[in-house]
Amino acid sequence: MDTILQAVLDGAPGEELAQLPMPETYRAAFVRRDEAAMFEGMESAEKDPRKSLHVGEVALPELAPDEAYVAVMASAINFNTVWTSIFEPLPTFGFLDRLGKESRWGARHALNYHVLGSDASGVVLKVGSAVRNWRSGDKVTIHCNFVDDQDPGAHDDSMLAANQRIWGFESNFGGLADIALVKANQLMPKPAHLTWEEAAVNALCNSTAYRMLVSPNGAPIKQGDRVLVWGATGGLGSYAVQYVLNGGGIPIGVVSSPDKVDLLHELGVEAVIDRKAAGYRFWKDEFHQDEAEWRRFGKDIRALVGEDPDIVFEHPGRSTMGASVFVAKRGGIIVTCAATSGYMIEYDNRHLWMKLKTIKGSHFANYREAWDANRLICEGKILPPLSAVYPLEEVGEATYQVHKNLHEGKIGVLCLAPRQGLGIDDPELRARVGEDRITLFRRHEG
Ligand code: NAP
Repeated sequence: MDTILQAVLDGAPGEELAQLPMPETYRAAFVRRDEAAMFEGMESAEKDPRKSLHVGEVALPELAPDEAYVAVMASAINFNTVWTSIFEPLPTFGFLDRLGKESRWGARHALNYHVLGSDASGVVLKVGSAVRNWRSGDKVTIHCNFVDDQDPGAHDDSMLAANQRIWGFESNFGGLADIALVKANQLMPKPAHLTWEEAAVNALCNSTAYRMLVSPNGAPIKQGDRVLVWGATGGLGSYAVQYVLNGGGIPIGVVSSPDKVDLLHELGVEAVIDRKAAGYRFWKDEFHQDEAEWRRFGKDIRALVGEDPDIVFEHPGRSTMGASVFVAKRGGIIVTCAATSGYMIEYDNRHLWMKLKTIKGSHFANYREAWDANRLICEGKILPPLSAVYPLEEVGEATYQVHKNLHEGKIGVLCLAPRQGLGIDDPELRARVGEDRITLFRRHEG
């Protein structure tokens, strides 16, 4: 691995990288099948990723013809890292076993450890015999749509394929490791003006927000639209508000601290609600919601932007869905991709049908959407909300920070990159985009 890293750091040509022998094992973060019941009987909040996430050597899997080995310079924590590490809502080994039954190549994934991680930036080391568009030495970021191109369902919108998966969550050999095994159709160019860690954090959340708010597959924004964004400094929300601003809309960001309010103002979001300070209690108790509280929230939104939201960007789920459906404007769209606080959702259907609102489900992004979202990062039009960086050995602590909502934006993880700040190939573009804007979340986190 040291030889590979030195060659990558020296900028060795692709032909040279391709000749280097691959190691038999590599360093990776993983959960273990025999520990999948370790948190049984505990509340979600008590389940500690620092106990379930391990870092150690694992065997390098064989390379399939349509795949690439990538030397991972940096990766990122996603909320699915949290889900995998606390074995909720299900241990991920069931996903791996199902993939294992598909083919000889699928069988590689069904192991007693799961190398997780659904984001990465790095350098292509080797490509399989069927790979045409990428070669050793290419600097890349990786998106997490893991698609079987022999499934007819994948050829309209690959997110509609019956066996569509999320790499590093529903498949093994993910990005929180020194080497990632990916399909060639997960590769995208690395933004040349960003460091490895800035480049590593975007693909999953940026592409998801893009599909939800920009693609015709989501609830595309029109100029002037009011868009309510929950968790507006979180992983998804920090991209969502940028898309609303870029698209000529008016974001209303909801956050939970004065610090996050300041951060949104610095990002250019004028209308911000601190949900903790406002003290909304949408649920009176475990079973009953409070329409008066939905109404108070709606009034607060109108006071800020004059109208009800055309679009609600939903992901907290059970805690907020009733309020989201209520506050959306007549004919408005609630676009949802998640349910962090609980997936059994309740809302008052009268407000949905009488006011002709739509709830739209969305999940990650197809290759085209991920590519277009990445292009905007490459052009400096969407900024990476990197707020903190941890070494791979501290992946448990980094995941704990996200689990406990102690973070802002995205947390990066250094894998092979020996230190932060490396990987910038286009300093002129970086200067044009603005160092201060690129590092806004880092500076804010202090
Ligand atoms: P994140 O970085 O933790 O941000 C989520 C934000 O939501 C938090 O910072 C928090 O902001 C807010 N929040 C959390 N619980 C809340 C509650 N009960 N009520 C109101 N706001 C709440 O996570 P993320 O990366 O944005 O992901 C969010 C969810 O989306 C996760 O469940 C994740 O698994 C899912 N996801 C799905 C997809 C997909 O393709 N389907 C893709 C990415 C993520 P404040 O405390 O500041 O309000």
